[in-house]
Amino acid sequence: TLKTKTALVTGSTSGIGLAIARAFAAEGADIILNGFGNAEAIERERGAIEKDFGVRAHYSGADMTKPAEIDAMVEEAHERFGSVDVLVNNAGIQFVSPIEEFPGEKWEQIIAINLSSAFYAMKAAIPGMKARGWGRIINTASAHSLVASPFKSAYVAAKHGIAGLTKTAALELAPHKITVNCISPGYVWTPLVEAQIPDTMKARGLTKEQVIEDVLLKAQPTKEFVTVEQVAALAVFLCSDAASQMTGANLAMDGGWTAQ
Ligand code: NAD
Repeated sequence: TLKTKTALVTGSTSGIGLAIARAFAAEGADIILNGFGNAEAIERERGAIEKDFGVRAHYSGADMTKPAEIDAMVEEAHERFGSVDVLVNNAGIQFVSPIEEFPGEKWEQIIAINLSSAFYAMKAAIPGMKARGWGRIINTASAHSLVASPFKSAYVAAKHGIAGLTKTAALELAPHKITVNCISPGYVWTPLVEAQIPDTMKARGLTKEQVIEDVLLKAQPTKEFVTVEQVAALAVFLCSDAASQMTGANLAMDGGWTAQ
């Protein structure tokens, strides 16, 4: 149970992050939602979390490319709920292009959102976790933290980076009862995956069906997408006492992709 705990999940207005936030709320945690999107839709999700699970939920629109906004988001969480006990660095974007055509701004943006934001959020949240002598940090990495695919240079670099950051933080925080792990999903059916299909069609000259079958699920021996609920269940497990000796791990949930 996560009763009396506060969980901050970046990039939780959609997809995996939203499923993790709802799963933590089901365990009794107060929730800080973060991410972009339609204001009414976000308010609906926030209200639904409070109503469905009887917890408090607050929304921060902090932009994960802006360190000052990340600091302010963590401070706001402390002001509202008194702590950030569980931090999930999950916000992420994708961009698909050959390196020689990859816009420099896209590279910078992906490194900022998918990697540097986790550093800044940890930096802001760790002192409180240390003071309370308990914490859980979970980074949403990817199968692309372990293996590469062509045309995803920035994403693969950022995800390999987050795997390294996870190990380093785990070593630093091991004496403080704070665990740091990353979850590495294979393909999960979310807006992020759906949105990259047109660019992959273009980059590889394929139809939508061919991208799904021959590019996405080709890597995944089970030939099925991972679900957001499955990823969320692993995040809940990582917060449990049963997982207190798991730290610095990179946990694959990828239908066998990285076993190949
Ligand atoms: P998604 O597009 O559904 O969600 C991404 C979230 O990040 C959204 O809430 C979005 O608003 C938020 N976000 C984007 N830019 C932001 C910014 N600058 N500041 C704050 N929030 C921002 O995608 P998803 O598939 O749920 O992805 C979540 C995480 O899971 C990402 O880190 C992604 O790399 C990772 N992942 C996804 C898959 C997959 O197949 N879907 C596989 C492996 C890893």
